[in-house]
Formats: sequence, structure tokens, C-alpha cells
Amino acid sequence: MIQVGSVNTHIKGRVIEPRDPDYDDARTVFVGGIDRHPSLIVRPADANDVVTAIALARENGLALAVRSGGHSALGDGVTEGGLVIDLRGLRGIAIDTKERTAWAGGGITSGEYANVTHAYGLATGFGDTPSVGIGGLALGGGVGYLSRKFGLSIDDLVAAEIVTADGAVQQIDGSSNPDLFWAIRGGGGNFGVVTRFKFRLHEVDTVFGGMLMLPATPQVIESFVTHATAAPDELSTIANVMPAPPLPFVPVEHHGKLVILIQMVYAGLLGEGEQVVAPFRAMGPLVDILRPMPYPQIYPPEDPNFHPMATNRVMFMDGIDREGAETIVDHLEHSDARLRIAQIRVLGGAIARVPSEATAYAHRSRRVMVNVTAVFGHPQEAPRYRSWAEEFRNALQKGNPGAYVNFLADDGQARIREAYPGETWDRLREIKRRYDPANLFRLNHNVPPAAFDSLKGSTSRS
Ligand SMILES: Cc1cc2nc3c(=O)[nH]c(=O)nc-3n(C[C@H](O)[C@H](O)[C@H](O)COP(=O)(O)OP(=O)(O)OC[C@H]3O[C@@H](n4cnc5c(N)ncnc54)[C@H](O)[C@@H]3O)c2cc1C
Repeated sequence: MIQVGSVNTHIKGRVIEPRDPDYDDARTVFVGGIDRHPSLIVRPADANDVVTAIALARENGLALAVRSGGHSALGDGVTEGGLVIDLRGLRGIAIDTKERTAWAGGGITSGEYANVTHAYGLATGFGDTPSVGIGGLALGGGVGYLSRKFGLSIDDLVAAEIVTADGAVQQIDGSSNPDLFWAIRGGGGNFGVVTRFKFRLHEVDTVFGGMLMLPATPQVIESFVTHATAAPDELSTIANVMPAPPLPFVPVEHHGKLVILIQMVYAGLLGEGEQVVAPFRAMGPLVDILRPMPYPQIYPPEDPNFHPMATNRVMFMDGIDREGAETIVDHLEHSDARLRIAQIRVLGGAIARVPSEATAYAHRSRRVMVNVTAVFGHPQEAPRYRSWAEEFRNALQKGNPGAYVNFLADDGQARIREAYPGETWDRLREIKRRYDPANLFRLNHNVPPAAFDSLKGSTSRS
């Protein structure tokens, strides 16, 4: 048995303890208001270090958190008193230009990956924010600027190296351990620690894209969804309906007024991009920064000290009609949250061409995802804004809401179930039973093992 005190002698990477000067920095996650003190943070140098860290947690009964980019909405990348496997030491990337694949470390961020692969004129689609880890993002699905053209991030995942709860290191793919490979494509961090991901790369170099900002009237929101749905698969959009930020390029009379800020990438021939965005431009933008650009430029610069306290609710929809658009405008106009956003992602395209049962992301046929968020300034305000987000979702939702696991927050267990409808849930629980029967990997949107005694694995974070 490895003793906590002797862990340094077993780990090639770094061990960060509470007395370490880097400790506070290392335990900080993206979301604000999380102040957890793990007893140990292990930064593995390789898969063997992960094996050691897992054994240490298991044998000493320590709660185990796994961290990649640290953007979990619940701060699941850090735990009070337990052990954190912090994958930020695993950020290497090896590109095979002939095969058009990349093996990437489990702690690399979306932005780092995009910059490295861009040097070869290649890309894999991740999300909209460069600092999000590919670890959490790709295990939950991965919806971003190349999704309608190439599918979710998991649709480009061709293999993975994973360390399971029993300490086995395995390379898995569609033919070698296909069940586990199925589960990690959407099932989140429930099944082990992925130390390396192998992704397919696409020829994406200079794209036509950027941002359009329009006044957010119900008519504009409805038209945006209509145009984005009708657009060719090469065009992926992510639109935020929100009060206009007081930035220099936003006309001053619109500061604080509701706008729709549409980020878009046309991943096809450059000349075609201009034509495809014409219907959006015809709606009379306040700001138009669409242009040919190197793909990684779609990622905005980030402030590393930005740690917002926020609450959100996600839902799938089958479209947004005028009534839905009015609901969006009404709820955003009648909130006093310092920042409030309804984010609209029009899906379809390559996402929908993969059969629902092919991966653990089962919502392939849903056309639109909406995520409503309130950012606030004090933890005591959380219940009030949580109620606002709940009420907003209830007002907007028609039919089956479903849920995207990567945008679940403090929604509760019933909503995790909605992320994995029907047989997906049963299959995940059965695979979980085989690979993690004691629910060691439970600080996540937890899928309990089939026939699991719920007393055995509290998912309490602190
Ligand atoms: C600002 C922001 C923007 C976002 N944009 C998008 C977007 O455009 N598209 C989208 O799909 N999602 C998006 N998300 C959601 C994001 O995908 C999830 O929050 C994801 O879990 C974050 O991954 P991470 O590695 O940064 O977080 P972490 O907190 O490090 O990890 C989250 C969880 O994933 C698991 N995990 C992470 N890495 C590994 C690994 N290598 N092996 C095993 N388990 C692991 C762990 O259970 C961990 O608790 C966004 C989130 C934020 C905060």
C-alpha cells in the first residue's frame, strides 16, 4: 500500500501539498466561489503516475477528483480533503500528418490544441473557449465551431489511452474494448482517467468567420435560428443573446441593450463563406467582424483571473419560434443579473448523421441547444438566480428538454438521467459496474454502477 507521506518517491511528475507555494494556484478552478482544499494534488508525468495516484486514493479512501482544464460548472476538478489528479502535466501533442491524426495529452486545452495543429493547416473541433480542457469537453461530447461540418469532438475521437479504477492502462478504440470506448464518448469522467486522446484532424486552415452583432428583437432571434438551420453544414454558429458589452467597437447607444452576438465559422471554400453569411448580414448588424481568418482566431483572448460565479440551465429544443424568441427577450430584460445570457447553438449537420446509439451522447436528432446563464457577485445570490434560470427554462421548453451533460450544473440527479435517455443510461451503468464497481470516479455528473448501493459513494464535493 502506498502511504500518502511517501507519494513523492513514487511519482515522476509533481506532487503539490498544502504547504507548497503553488498550492492555492493549483487548487483554483475556473468557476468562482469554489474554495476546496485537497490534501494532495498529483500532476502526473505519464500514465504510470496516474496508476499510482489512483492506487493512493483507493487504498487510503481519499475522494478522487480528476482535472483537465478545470471548467466543470460544479468545480469537480477539485475536492475538499481528497486527492486531485491534475492532468495539466500531460499537454503534449503528437501529430501524424499522413494519417491526419493527433495523440493529445488529457490535460491540453482546446486553444493549445488548435494552435499546435493550425501550424499544419489542420484542426479538430472543440468548443467556443480556448481554456476549456479537451479532457472534460471531449468526454461529454464537444459542441463547437466545426460541429455541423465534422460532428462532435467525440465523432473525431478514434482511440484513447485510459487508466481504469483497477489501475489497468489500456488503449481502446472501436474494435479494442468497444464498450468502454462507447462509454467515454459522451459518458464523461465516469470510467477512468484518459491520459491521451487520439483525434482525427481535418484540413481547416483559413476560414471565413468571426462575429456579427445585431439588436436582439424576437424577430431577429427567430430569423437567426431559421437562417442558421437552413445554412449548409460548413457553417456552425454559437449565438449569445445578452446585454451589449461596453466595448469600444459597440456603438455606445447600444451598451447594455439586448443584442445577439453571433460567432460563426464557415469551414468551406473562402469565397462561398461570404455568400452563406449574406442572410445574416441582411438583418442589419450593429457590428460586423466577419472575415477570412486563421481558424484559431475564432477563440477570443481570455483573462486568466476571470472566475465568474454563475448558474445555468441547458435544454434541447426543436426550433425557436416567435413565442420562444419573445420568452428569451422577456426573461433577459427582466433580470438584474450582472450578466445574463441565453446561448443558442443550432445543431444538426454531421452531429445528426451519427446514429443515436453509436455513442453515449444520445441527443443526435435535436436541432437546437439553449443554455441560459446568470452571472452574479455573491454566493448568497445563487438561489435567486438559480430560480430565475429554472423558471426561464420551464417557460422556454416545449416537449422533452433532454440535457447536454457538459452544460449541466447543480441540476440534480434527475437531469443527469435526462442527459442519458432510455437504454443509454442502462448501458452506461452496466459498463460502469464492470470498470468502476465501487464508484471511485464519482466527482462528476455521476452514473452510478448498476446494482450500486447508494450508501457506498457519496458525490458530496465538500
Ligand atoms: C466558459 C465555458 C465555455 C464552454 N464552452 C463549451 C463549448 O463550447 N462546447 C462544449 O461542448 N462544452 C463547453 N463547455 C462545457 C465544458 O465542456 C465542460 O464544463 C467540461 O467538463 C470542461 O472540461 P475541463 O476539462 O475544462 O474541466 P474539468 O473541470 O477539468 O473536468 C471536468 C470533469 O471532466 C472529467 N475529466 C476531465 N478530464 C478528464 C480526463 N482526461 N480523464 C477522465 N476524466 C476527465 C472529470 O470528471 C472532471 O470532473 C464550456 C464550459 C465553460 C465554463
